[in-house]
Amino acid sequence: MSQPTNDTAGRPVVLRGGTVLTVDATRQVLAGHDVLVVGDRIAAVGPDLAVPDGTVEIDATGGIVMPGMIDTHRHLWQTAMRGYGADWTLTQYFVWYYLEWGKIFRPADVYAGNLLGAWEALDAGVTTTVDWSHGLRTTEHADAAVDALQAVPGRFVLAYGNIQDAPATWTGAPEFRDFVTRRVTGQDLLGFQIAFDVTGDPAFPEKPAFEVARELGVPVTTHAGVWGATGDDGIRLMHEHGFMTPETVYVHGASLSADSYHRIAATGGSVSVSTESEQSAGQGYPPTWMLRAHGIPVSLSMDTSVWWSGDLFSAMRTTLGADRSREHMAAHARDETVTHAALRAEQVVEWATRGGARALGRGSDLGSIETGKKADLVLIKNDRSPVSFPLLNPHGHVALQAQRGDVHTVLVNGRIVKRDGRLVDVDLAAVRRTVDATVSYLQDQLGPEAWQRGMNPDVPETKVLDNPYTYTDYQSGSTHGH
Ligand SMILES: [Zn+2]
Repeated sequence: MSQPTNDTAGRPVVLRGGTVLTVDATRQVLAGHDVLVVGDRIAAVGPDLAVPDGTVEIDATGGIVMPGMIDTHRHLWQTAMRGYGADWTLTQYFVWYYLEWGKIFRPADVYAGNLLGAWEALDAGVTTTVDWSHGLRTTEHADAAVDALQAVPGRFVLAYGNIQDAPATWTGAPEFRDFVTRRVTGQDLLGFQIAFDVTGDPAFPEKPAFEVARELGVPVTTHAGVWGATGDDGIRLMHEHGFMTPETVYVHGASLSADSYHRIAATGGSVSVSTESEQSAGQGYPPTWMLRAHGIPVSLSMDTSVWWSGDLFSAMRTTLGADRSREHMAAHARDETVTHAALRAEQVVEWATRGGARALGRGSDLGSIETGKKADLVLIKNDRSPVSFPLLNPHGHVALQAQRGDVHTVLVNGRIVKRDGRLVDVDLAAVRRTVDATVSYLQDQLGPEAWQRGMNPDVPETKVLDNPYTYTDYQSGSTHGH
C-alpha cells in the first residue's frame, strides 16, 4: 500500500466540527467549531463556516483541533541512534558522544538522523522543531543538516553547534560566516540560532561567540543548569556581560540557584524543559516548580531520540507528573497534603504550543489558533480507539490521554503533511535505507565489541564530575548543585 500523496496542495482546508483548543490568551475551548485555512494562514474560526469552492473538507467531529506543537530543543542528528542509549546516564551520554564517538559522524550521518527525526516530529504533531545541532564538526555537516530539514515539510530552527570545538573558534571561522550567508536566508520555515554551552570559566572564553550572535542578530540557546556541566557561574558571566536577552533559551535550567533564576526572569529569557531527559539522565530535577515560582516562561522539549521519541505528548505527561510529584513530596515533608494541584493540564498544553512560539520569538504568528495566524494545526482524532471518548476535559485529554497514534491530521504553513493518521508524501522505505547506511557505518567503525559496550559505556574516572567538553580543561565544583 502506497503512502497518501498530497493532491490538496494549494487548496483551502477546513477542519469541521471539532473541539478547538485555541490556546489563546484566555485558553478558550470552542466545541463544534470549524477552522478554515486559506494559503498559509488561519482564515476563520467559527461554527458552520462558509468556505471557498474547492476547499478540502476534513471531518473533525469527535476530535480536538489544537495548535501545532513546538519542540525547542532536540538533537535531531542523534535520531539514527534511536533507543541505543536507553539505559544511559548523562555521564555515559557525554562519554559516548562528546569524548568518544561523536566525532566519527559524517555529513551523511547527520543527514540521516535529521531526516528521520524531522519526519518523526511531524508524525507526532510537532510542527516546529529546534534542531539543537551540536554535531556540526564542519560546515559540510551543517549543509547536510539543512538539506535534511528542507527535505521535510515541517517548520524547523537550525540551532548551529559543535561540541568538538570551542564556541569562539567555530563561530569565528570564515566558513561559518559563509554558511550563514548561503543557508540562513530568512525563510519562514527555517529559523536560525547559535547553540553552545557556557562552562563558567572566569576567563569567559565564550564571549566572542556571543558577540557573533549579537552581530548576526540571532538568538543563543545554551544548556544551562546541567549538573556537572553548566551552572550558576555561566549564567552570572552571561549576565555581567549583557548577553542574557529575551530571545535566549536556557535548556534544562535545573540545578541552578535562586540567583540564576532571578537573572533569567529579570532579562526575560525562557527555559526549555526536557522533563523526560532530566528525570532519566540526571541534569537535575525537572525545574517547572521553580520556574513557576520565579515567573519564568517555559517551553517543552524532547532532547534526543537516543533515549526518547520526539513526542511532546510524553513531555506534557511527564512534566505534569514530575511537578506534581515534587509538590506532594514537599507537602508530605511538612506533614501536609496537597488538596489542589498547582500545575494544571491546560498549562502544559500551553507550554507545548504557545510557550514554544514565545521562546522562538514567534508569539505573534505561531502557537495558538486565532484568525490571521500561521496555519500550523493538529487534529487529534482516532475513531478506532477506545481512548478517544468521552471527551470531557479537552486540555486534560491532550495532556494525559492522547498519544502520537491519535494524531489524525497535521498542517504546517497551511499544507497538509499528515492525513487520516498517515504522513503525506513521505518515502519511509527510502528514509529507512538512509538510516540503515548510517547504522552500518557506525557499527563498522566501532566494531562489534565497542558497539555492544557502548550501550553501557565505561566512564573515565577523571570525567565523572568534570565538564564533558574536550576543547577546555576548565573544571569547577560549582556545577555540582546546591
Ligand atoms: Zn540537549
